[in-house]
Amino acid sequence: MNPAGTSRTCARCGHCAKENRVTQAAFACTACGHAAHADVNAAINILRAGLALRQAAEAA
Ligand SMILES: [Zn+2]
Repeated sequence: MNPAGTSRTCARCGHCAKENRVTQAAFACTACGHAAHADVNAAINILRAGLALRQAAEAA
């Protein structure tokens, strides 16, 4: 995942679109309807990306 896309990628379904970012503070997915504070949604994406990296490192 591109870290720059975390603020506009849905933490529930993975849909990435700038239209998901309704305002600076609000996130609402146009694909599945998931709505959250934009920072919370981005934090979930960053956490998930970090866990994926760690799993890849442990598997190597
Ligand atoms: Zn979604």
